[in-house]
Amino acid sequence: MNYSTTKSTQVSVPLSQCLLEGLASDGGLYIPKVFPHIGGFGKLTSIGDIGQALLTPFFQGDELEKSLRDILDESFNFPVQLKSLTSNLDLLELFHGPTQSFKDFGARFLAACLKRIPTKKPRMILVATSGDTGGAVASAFEGLKDHSVVLLFPELGISPRQKHQLTCWGSNVRSFAVQGTFDDCQRMVKETFASSELKSFSLTSSNSINIGRLLPQMVYYAWASQLVYGRSGNAANFVIPSGNVGNATACFWARKVGLPINHIRMAFNANATVTEYFKSGTYTPQKSKKTLANAMDVGAPSNLERLIHLDELKKASSTSNTPDPEIKKTILSVRQKYGITICPHTACGFHSIKDDGFNIWTVLATAHPAKFNDVIEPILGESVQIPESLGKLLSRPVKVETIPPSTEELISILKR
Ligand SMILES: *Cc1c(COP(=O)(O)O)cnc(C)c1O
Repeated sequence: MNYSTTKSTQVSVPLSQCLLEGLASDGGLYIPKVFPHIGGFGKLTSIGDIGQALLTPFFQGDELEKSLRDILDESFNFPVQLKSLTSNLDLLELFHGPTQSFKDFGARFLAACLKRIPTKKPRMILVATSGDTGGAVASAFEGLKDHSVVLLFPELGISPRQKHQLTCWGSNVRSFAVQGTFDDCQRMVKETFASSELKSFSLTSSNSINIGRLLPQMVYYAWASQLVYGRSGNAANFVIPSGNVGNATACFWARKVGLPINHIRMAFNANATVTEYFKSGTYTPQKSKKTLANAMDVGAPSNLERLIHLDELKKASSTSNTPDPEIKKTILSVRQKYGITICPHTACGFHSIKDDGFNIWTVLATAHPAKFNDVIEPILGESVQIPESLGKLLSRPVKVETIPPSTEELISILKR
């Protein structure tokens, strides 16, 4: 299979090239040229087997085709759990990876792919992060030969534990606290790409515009929808805490290839750009608002272009928005109702279905609550237990360079 872009059906490039480029040179986003029909997985039950059956057509003809199974085994080397909360409510826990958010799937998959594509120059992965992406990418690429990672994050406005996770890595990861906003960080990454100053490196982006982060996310929708369907005979309805809508895009793609998925709800925080799009039919990017669910503080969701292109938004799908006070109330009520502790992002998902008692939902838990102890502990009045993987990271020393929001300054440091 080859890939075209949201701007042109004429483009036709192999998967590896999409992974290396991130953003296509015509300014569009890479999308599969065709969506193969995959009815089901027969007797397959393990996530690795299902992933291989699902993604083989997407890798067909590419230099990575023969490595797909190894790539999957390396990236899905931690559990995914589907927990039944009531007879019509499931929780899909995606936070059991090394940095405790669902971003580990995409980051590890991308790293496992890139390390198998030969390079003449050392590769530099540039990441602007507002929360969880940076840690997942650093973890996935740490110690990888010929690869270095440059992380940019806003000095203020991320949780203390997220900050620790952005700054506790080995010598091939450099972390910069930018004295500015997330928008500044993104601009600096773009400007660094556009400049010709870092010619001795091959520059790559690992933000969720990179299709290498979306493909692996289809796998857990395939796995979970098969479980739900096998058990209940019903197609799954997913509630997806959303920001850049990369995770939701993977779900729409999984539905498009024929898996048993019915309704797709994107649960946002107070940032309502996509909800406005559903109402008006026109996309108007907005300035991002800061919320308690900070990894979803996105005003210009980059993957919306892929969803609009697919026309799938016209089929069973919806959005919801949850303001901060409701996030807090939901963390408490979910604890009282189901006895579980959820992160602020996952709370947006639960809040969106609180009046839907008759429907059957699978809510995604996108991050471990212990990453957001500063928000959750005052609400619940007790401390959140730290998983072993997070404990290990928190005991590592940190190193960080603080810089003004200037691309010139960044480039001059990187050249030294
Ligand atoms: C990134 C992130 C999201 C949003 O995912 P998108 O793919 O950007 O929509 C939701 N929850 C958590 C915890 C995240 O880290």
